[in-house]
Amino acid sequence: MVKIIMLGPPGAGKGTYATRLAPKLGIPTISTGELLRAARDDPEIGETIRKYQDSGELVPDEIVIQILKKRLEQDDAKNGFILDGFPRTLAQAKALETITNIDVVINLDVPEEILIKRLSARRQCKKCGAIYNLLYLKPKVDGICDKCGGELYQRDDDKPEAIKERLRVYHEKTAPLIDYYKEKGIMITITTDRIDVPPEEQVEKIMQKLKEKNLI
Ligand code: ADP
Ligand code: ZN
Repeated sequence: MVKIIMLGPPGAGKGTYATRLAPKLGIPTISTGELLRAARDDPEIGETIRKYQDSGELVPDEIVIQILKKRLEQDDAKNGFILDGFPRTLAQAKALETITNIDVVINLDVPEEILIKRLSARRQCKKCGAIYNLLYLKPKVDGICDKCGGELYQRDDDKPEAIKERLRVYHEKTAPLIDYYKEKGIMITITTDRIDVPPEEQVEKIMQKLKEKNLI
């Protein structure tokens, strides 16, 4: 039973590592980005979500917190989970504390030039959400998902203007959480200094640190 937060700027690999770690730990990955994308057609909140997501802004806290809270109430989250992309603001971190307690925060430290290169080359499966990268994590067949045969596309927020805005928003709103969790003494930092580090290598490092801390 372990409750993990993946913290890091857009393009740091939160989703890539979380989806590889989760099966090893027997817990689900909960991505607020994915939960929000799944609600883009919702008649009540869909329009708001699309507006913020497509321009690279954060979706308002009330919406995200409510969606996350509902997801954490599902049975599969009772024995632990990996949060990918939440919290992203101090208000979200505080709200999370009223819902559950977190064992460890994995902080992904990646230089900005690597983030920009990765985000621009990112492609995602329309059907299953799997993530590829045209530089280093290519699909076997161009434009087609290895896992489900779905079509790969570029998210609107992976276009240059939105990437710039997402990085700015990260520095302003999310980066302060690094100090917040450091002070609580529950943070592990994983550094990436080359764009072509295989995800498996980083996942192994994370597993090692979780073991050292007796969390798994
Ligand atoms: P990335 O981590 O690469 O930015 P995500 O899929 O996690 O990709 O997030 C995409 C977008 O979804 C964000 O830019 C934001 O608009 C919205 N989003 C995701 N998580 C949150 C959150 N916790 N709070 C507010 N907005 C969020
Ligand atoms: Zn797929």
